[in-house]
Amino acid sequence: MGQGFDTKSVHITMKRDGIPTKVTPIHQTSAFTFKDLEDIENFYTGERDYLYTRVGNPNTDELGQAVAKLEGAPSGIATSSGLSAILVGLLSVVKSGDHVLASNDLYGGTYELLANELTEFGIEVSFISFDAEIEEHIQPNTVLLYTESITNPLLRVENLKKVVEIAKKHQLKTMIDNTFATPYLVQPYVLGVDLVVHSATKYLGGHSDITAGVVVGSENLIANARKKCVNLGANLSPFEAWLTVRGMKTLGVRMERHVQNAQKLAKSLEEHPAVRRVYYPTFVSEQGNGAIVTIELAENADIDTFFQSLAWIKIVATLAGVETTVSYPIGTSHRNLPEAAQKELGITKGLVRISVGIEEASDIIEAITHALNIAKK
Ligand SMILES: *Cc1c(COP(=O)(O)O)cnc(C)c1O
Repeated sequence: MGQGFDTKSVHITMKRDGIPTKVTPIHQTSAFTFKDLEDIENFYTGERDYLYTRVGNPNTDELGQAVAKLEGAPSGIATSSGLSAILVGLLSVVKSGDHVLASNDLYGGTYELLANELTEFGIEVSFISFDAEIEEHIQPNTVLLYTESITNPLLRVENLKKVVEIAKKHQLKTMIDNTFATPYLVQPYVLGVDLVVHSATKYLGGHSDITAGVVVGSENLIANARKKCVNLGANLSPFEAWLTVRGMKTLGVRMERHVQNAQKLAKSLEEHPAVRRVYYPTFVSEQGNGAIVTIELAENADIDTFFQSLAWIKIVATLAGVETTVSYPIGTSHRNLPEAAQKELGITKGLVRISVGIEEASDIIEAITHALNIAKK
């Protein structure tokens, strides 16, 4: 299909029988009815759809398929959150006794899931720098390489081609969290990655009004993930799936503005005397370098004053909404990372993550610069 990204995004709605609504209706129901016993049998033989919403619902299916389409993957499934998408994706390929080789600069919640929860179920996990020699750390029981296309909060751009190459050589599976990049910038499945996960809470939804996740991949792996999602009760509500699909129609135009604004903001902060370092990728894709700008304040700047001087910019523990927001990784998302890991990665007390919104770039630059000017001692 030769359609452009925006054409695909806008026409993501699934067409269904019945009343010719322009937009898919919200199937806000916990269950579906049957005409007779044969009709029930038909569900199990695949001749009709839908039994019970935990097992499947038109709106959650629509979301899974929409993300799969934008990622260039055959199949996808929506889940209750980004973290449950990661759990369901992981459990569709690893079991007790297996070893996961994970990048050491993951989202804090993913780190906790891997380090504290999966290990209790007998899954072995090692965290290593994916910039270093990955192959040295592969064990006989390694089954999966896990990393993020753009890492959080320091925005390291993963070399996906290298990761896929190593995995193929050693017959491992790969799973990539594509939340920060979105399929607008990077399509890991197309590059040979097995499973791609999203916190749809972020750019896919885009409006900070839902919590949702999606896993996409081959028909086989997603069938496996679907089984896990059903059995673990990790399903998404139909309304939230509907809102996410609604948001996704503007993913392309939002990302275009997000990325332009971030590029301008990153450039404007480079020379600021209250900023020691600007973290912003130099190359993610032809479409741009992402919409998160992380800065480390200089010694001479007071972090509390900075956060108190942000005017209309809100302080939150999330990212990727249409409005510019700031967050404090060491106080929130990366709070529970061991101190040694925080230090090694550079997650310091001066680190601020800016999720650049779609407002006028000049207004964003002015507000952040103003806070920095006041914070400078
Ligand atoms: C937010 C986030 C998650 C977790 O998603 P939830 O929707 O909060 O469960 C996972 N990975 C990344 C990169 C995130 O930013």
